[in-house]
Amino acid sequence: MSYTNALISLCDSFGCSYKLDESLKEHTTFRIGGKCKIAVFVNSDESLSGIVGFCRSNSVKYAVLGNGSNIIADDRFFDGAVIIIGNDYSKILSIDDGTIVCQAGLMLSRLCIAAKNEGYTGLEFAYGIPGTVGGALYMNAGAYGGEMSDVVVSADYLDTDGSIRTILKENMDLSYRHSAFMNSGRIILRVRIKLRKGTVSEIEQKMETLISKRREKQPLNYPSAGSTFKRPEGAFAAALIEECGLKGFSVGDAQVSEKHSGFVINKGNATFDDIMQLVEEVRKKVKTDTGYELELEPEILR
Ligand SMILES: Cc1cc2nc3c(=O)[nH]c(=O)nc-3n(C[C@H](O)[C@H](O)[C@H](O)COP(=O)(O)OP(=O)(O)OC[C@H]3O[C@@H](n4cnc5c(N)ncnc54)[C@H](O)[C@@H]3O)c2cc1C
Repeated sequence: MSYTNALISLCDSFGCSYKLDESLKEHTTFRIGGKCKIAVFVNSDESLSGIVGFCRSNSVKYAVLGNGSNIIADDRFFDGAVIIIGNDYSKILSIDDGTIVCQAGLMLSRLCIAAKNEGYTGLEFAYGIPGTVGGALYMNAGAYGGEMSDVVVSADYLDTDGSIRTILKENMDLSYRHSAFMNSGRIILRVRIKLRKGTVSEIEQKMETLISKRREKQPLNYPSAGSTFKRPEGAFAAALIEECGLKGFSVGDAQVSEKHSGFVINKGNATFDDIMQLVEEVRKKVKTDTGYELELEPEILR
């Protein structure tokens, strides 16, 4: 039996949906990426561990995606399974005295709204980050002075040996856009966060203020993966890029946004190669002119 047929049977047995020859463009906010053999939308711990276990033991290539908002996907065919931890695995499991437990596929914005509705403060920074809770913890997402490490308590994850374990925040090695989950093969299942009691109207006000700032400063009308480069120590990527005269610089349909130089945008039909060439040219010029090394923030999926 081909690996595709075996995965289809597994999906059927777990009741989770899948799509064959699915374009990754549909699953990345950059709207870039080729087709994969099968995209699987997991809906439970069992389906995730069953699908991942099958891929591991049969040497089938696989990748995990949340909302695809921190990803640059190659246009070339992905001969394997892309496992999507999204809507079908996105329940809020409990809200109790400021502690919220949710599945990894929940969108951060939905979690923020739920916290606000219950009158819990501390998560407002995350409103407007277009990722899932799992994806956000994976890279310790943050904005406007807050980050996941401020609110997370613990997480359950699927380990590389197939067991489900719990990890406390102290052991997650969280720092600027970094966590112990990165490149570890461990997959986040559930996240526990702890918030403080606040006032609904104040929380709402803060969320609205932050989302307005995003709308004002960021090129949200174009596909992108958010900030293209990490903040280098002692500087801001956008300011360095601008200083080098690269605002608006393009390769094909990939462009350094004229609205925010920290964002590379897809003006319509940008390819993976356009994005990567643009990124390399920006890095080279910034290094030559300013001495700063820019590091890519999104991950490459290939
Ligand atoms: C317009 C825009 C604005 C943005 N603003 C911000 C911002 O202010 N701050 C910020 O930090 N980021 C920002 N981002 C980037 C992005 O939204 C965040 O990094 C987000 O946390 C990524 O979550 P995701 O679910 O989309 O992850 P994906 O992009 O799907 O995946 C990113 C990585 O996480 C891994 N991953 C995803 N889910 C899991 C899981 N359950 N278990 C293990 N690994 C997993 C994937 O394998 C991949 O390696 C922005 C992006 C856009 C497009």
